Amino acid sequence: MTNIISLPNNLQIGGTDVLLMAGPCSVESYEQTRVVAKSMHELGLHVLRGGAFKPRTSPNVFQGLGLEGLKILRQVADEFGFLVITEALGVEQLPSVVEHSDIIQIGSRNMQHFPLLWAAGEQPKPILLKRGFMSTIQEWLAAAEHIVSRGNEKIILCERGIRSFDPSTRNVLDVNAIAQIKASTPFPIVADPSHATGRVDLVPAAARASLAAGADGLLVEVHPEPSSALSDGEQSLALKSFPAFVEDMRHIATAMGREIV
Ligand code: PEP
Ligand code: MN
Repeated sequence: MTNIISLPNNLQIGGTDVLLMAGPCSVESYEQTRVVAKSMHELGLHVLRGGAFKPRTSPNVFQGLGLEGLKILRQVADEFGFLVITEALGVEQLPSVVEHSDIIQIGSRNMQHFPLLWAAGEQPKPILLKRGFMSTIQEWLAAAEHIVSRGNEKIILCERGIRSFDPSTRNVLDVNAIAQIKASTPFPIVADPSHATGRVDLVPAAARASLAAGADGLLVEVHPEPSSALSDGEQSLALKSFPAFVEDMRHIATAMGREIV
C-alpha cells in the first residue's frame, strides 16, 4: 500500500489524486516563471517546479539564479497559492531551500550523496528523491532508507529515466520501475517524462505510459519559449501546447480512476 503524504493547501500524494507538478527547468526571471504559473492556475494545477541551484554537466553554462531564483519561485507560487518544489544541490543550500519550498528535490546526480540524504532526513518537509540515472531500484530504495533513518518518512520517489546504449533519447523511462515501486514499496512514485526522454516530441507518450503504470504524479518541464530556454529547452513543453497536454493527462487519469490536481 502506498503511503499518503499530506502536503500544504489540502493537497496530498499517494492517494487517488495525481499531482501534476510543472514549471521551467530553470528559474530564469520573475516574468518567465509567472507566465508559466498563470497558465497552470488556469488549468487547475497547484505545484510549481523550477531549478534555482542547477546540477549542470558543464560548468560553462547557466548554473541557475541561486537564492534569487528561490525567492522568485516563492513569490510567484504565493501569488497563486501554489506549492514549490525545487532542488537542494548540496547540504549547504538545504536550509534556504527548506525555507523557500514545500517539497525538496534531491536530483539524480545526488541520489547517493549521503550527507545530503541525512540532512534531508533531519528536517520535516517532504523529499522528492530522483533515481540516479545509473542506479538500480535496490540502490534507490536504499537511498530512501538513508533519509528515513534520520526520521523523515515523507519520501516521494521520482523515476526520471536511466542511461542506455541508445543515443536516440537522453535516457530511457523505466516504466517497469514505476509499476514495481507501486506494487512493492510504500513510497508514492512520480515520473519525470522530460528528463526521461530529453525530447519534447516524446514527453506526452512517456507521461501517458507513466500514469497508466500507476504513477502518483508527474514532474514536467514547461517553458514560455523553449527555443530560448537557458536549460533543457529541447525537452520542455511550450506553454502554448501545455493545455492540450494537461487535457491528455486528464483522460488517462480518468481511465485509471484518478484525478489530476
Ligand atoms: C531537474 O529536475 O531539474 C533535474 C536536474 O533533474 P535530474 O536530477 O533528474 O537530472
Ligand atoms: Mn531540466
